[in-house]
Amino acid sequence: VGVNLKAIVTDAPHGGVWLREINEPVEHGDVLVQTVYTGVCGTDRGIVSGSLEFARKQEGFDYLVLGHECVGRVVESRNSSLKEGDFVVPVATMPGGCMNCHIGRPDYCSDGDFRAAGVYRKNGYMRSYFREDSDHLIRVPDPSLSLIAVLTEPLKNVMKVVDLLSLLGYRCITTAPGSTYSGKRALIIGTGPEALLFSRVFCDMGFHVIAVNRHDIGEKHRKLIEKSGAFFVDYSRDKLDGMEFDVAVDTSGDPSAVVYCIRKMARNGILFLFGTNGRAPAYGITGTDIDRVVEYNIAIAGSVDGGRVHYEKALRKLHEWYMQDRDSVRSLITAIRKPEDLDVFRFKEEGEIKSVIEW
Ligand SMILES: [Zn+2]
Repeated sequence: VGVNLKAIVTDAPHGGVWLREINEPVEHGDVLVQTVYTGVCGTDRGIVSGSLEFARKQEGFDYLVLGHECVGRVVESRNSSLKEGDFVVPVATMPGGCMNCHIGRPDYCSDGDFRAAGVYRKNGYMRSYFREDSDHLIRVPDPSLSLIAVLTEPLKNVMKVVDLLSLLGYRCITTAPGSTYSGKRALIIGTGPEALLFSRVFCDMGFHVIAVNRHDIGEKHRKLIEKSGAFFVDYSRDKLDGMEFDVAVDTSGDPSAVVYCIRKMARNGILFLFGTNGRAPAYGITGTDIDRVVEYNIAIAGSVDGGRVHYEKALRKLHEWYMQDRDSVRSLITAIRKPEDLDVFRFKEEGEIKSVIEW
């Protein structure tokens, strides 16, 4: 028994994008969710262009439904914690069989048997309805957050890095007096949606944040960064000579940017690698760079995804931002499109931060 749905699908890992009527078999799960908003990100565009080679279809399907950033509305629930009309955010990564998956941390899956909605072995949320287990759904506390809650999935990555920062910070004192980060410096490589979310969270923590890119950005984009409390620098022109950073986050995946970060780290600094770009050209790391990493006690840590706990922290953070200034968090969503508008997967609009599809 199935039901006809509208869905945005791709032929993973080869790419392409189509809006299709699909006859979806009834999935397992005690909650039926009507999709309200889905966010479009670089991963979706990578899958559509065929450059994300790890993308895979769900077993038994000849397509992959895209979409991992989602807000939906509960239509039918067999679980008392969620009722009809509740807005929910799905946890996009599903556990496999390893120990880390068993304890609810498929973001640390140790054998690759996890599934990631819209990316890897599981159909995503860019379809009119989906069915899900209630333990993979997080209730949005306030219906007025329903649009900005689409930022929960990208923001949960930041919340995981914040946890890692406090863990790695135990190597020595990395904080300012009072265990705050007040006056400490953070460098963010990139000016995309993840970079903006990192900037804003680090500003909230008390860091002096500089977000950099290798080209200038538009006035509107620059204003958004400044509104978060960070500064923008075009580092193709201003190398930030004489400045060192206690924390850096690379969202570009570009080896030359990572080497730049290493050369900018302060003593005991922590560098997080978050961006990926398998097609970026090689860039030489020197003996002097290694010397710096060793002699300055620099920690370099990769981080991907996040656990349910980070989705929850992200939603609380979005709520906090919304209470402080609803317009500034709303302004991160720069376009709301229709499912028919497939060009959003092929082109990045000038000044785009986050494009959202309304279902
Ligand atoms: Zn696993």
